Amino acid sequence: MTDLNTEVLVLGGGPGGYTAAFRAADLGKKVTLVERYPVIGGVCLNVGCIPSKALLHIAQIIHEADEMKSHGVSFAKPQIDLNKIRAFKESVSKSLNTGLAGLCKQRKVTVIQGVGSFVSANALEVETEKGKQTITFEQAIIAAGSQATKIPVFPNDDARLWDSTDALELKEIPKKLLIVGGGIIGLEMATVYHALGSEISVVELMDQIIPGCDSDLVRPLQKRIKKQYKNIWLETKVDEIKPLKSGLKVTFSGKNAPEPQTYDAVLVAVGRRPNGLKVGADKAGINVDEMGFISVDKQQKTNIDNIFAIGDVVGNPMLAHKAVHEGKVAAEVICGEKAAFDALTVPSVAYTDPEVAWMGLTENEAKKQGIEYDKGAFPWAASGRSLSLGRNEGITKILCEKETGRVLGAGMVGPNAGELVAEAVLALEMGADAEDIGLTIHPHPTLSETFAFAAEMVTGSITDLYIKKR
Ligand code: NAD
Repeated sequence: MTDLNTEVLVLGGGPGGYTAAFRAADLGKKVTLVERYPVIGGVCLNVGCIPSKALLHIAQIIHEADEMKSHGVSFAKPQIDLNKIRAFKESVSKSLNTGLAGLCKQRKVTVIQGVGSFVSANALEVETEKGKQTITFEQAIIAAGSQATKIPVFPNDDARLWDSTDALELKEIPKKLLIVGGGIIGLEMATVYHALGSEISVVELMDQIIPGCDSDLVRPLQKRIKKQYKNIWLETKVDEIKPLKSGLKVTFSGKNAPEPQTYDAVLVAVGRRPNGLKVGADKAGINVDEMGFISVDKQQKTNIDNIFAIGDVVGNPMLAHKAVHEGKVAAEVICGEKAAFDALTVPSVAYTDPEVAWMGLTENEAKKQGIEYDKGAFPWAASGRSLSLGRNEGITKILCEKETGRVLGAGMVGPNAGELVAEAVLALEMGADAEDIGLTIHPHPTLSETFAFAAEMVTGSITDLYIKKR
């Protein structure tokens, strides 16, 4: 194979990698993108965020159709055609893959399919289908992502033991599905398979599902899924999974551990591990810790001057929107711009039903750090828009600095919370205070009003609730 020389090499074609490649190309660099799979888009687009959202949309329609019964509209029991659902999910990813391939062409980004590994600080060897190819480069951006954490004592070769990729393949709808890990992936997949008819149990190590989020924001979700799922065991661990002909026999331990149970499938969603130890970083002299994280500075630069790293491989949170932002920073620094990663927050969203979203300082962190704050928490039971959706359990919460009223953090739980959090992020980035938000006219009737109402609870100007004067 002919060897190649490029100005900027990007290793990994996920959202971080392709964004970095496109930005560098737009700023005039000759760019080569190395990706192991035949399509661009990485985990997010092919086996993560995007296909899961397509399935979650289906789950939402199934639930909403069912709930319409009590509002006077009844539908027949849904007929599930797994092949068609799978085809819909795949069509969504495919159209984005096609779009990205077009964007590569338009920008003249060379895409090499194969597994890349550094051989020096200026060369990468790619194992392609046609043999080895060496790419020499001036600068490189590592965007090699992460993979699902496996628990070594589990029977990982058994087809009934799933990771998130297996769950998204939608091969079958297990009668009884156990989900190990009550984090974002576990709960999103629980939402999908519950809607499709599985009996769901969730086992979580900590004393709360989505442990990183404030408990008041998680409570409405917990309350709803407690009614829908067979079991949610908190502070409980899986000790052993024994493959039997009849199913996977699971033994539990911990505070709320049940007797051993047998499941048709078990999804393990206990976090992800960075791929930093898999790219030959040592050959280029790049520092990688024992977990596989590559450390970088605010300009996304590793300890090697011409090599940058972005996304899951540089640290938590492992979220596509963080990777995209970092990808732009790395590309701009390489192209001589004065860029740095100085975002004040990376928002989090669980696309469950209800959705849970939060950004900035959480109440737990504020308490731990001894930061004084004023809080407004607006109940969606007083939101006309929420009630008209047949939902009353949501909350929008805002935390403001005591002295200045400036936004420190915010979170919401309820339908579409994931869309609403963006306004809170903007408020934080712009240094807005509670008064600014209350004085911003929000359209009525929308769920977005709840953010202004929460801010008005902080300033004391709320009229949509009665709060007794102290
Ligand atoms: P996570 O860290 O969100 O959740 C893992 C959960 O598993 C935690 O609650 C943890 O306490 C629990 N856990 C760990 N070990 C356990 C054990 N042995 N038994 C029982 N519970 C155990 O990780 P995830 O859900 O696997 O997601 C991985 C990454 O992907 C995260 O960084 C997540 O943010 C990201 N992701 C994001 C989205 C989104 O933004 N909507 C969707 C999917 C994934």
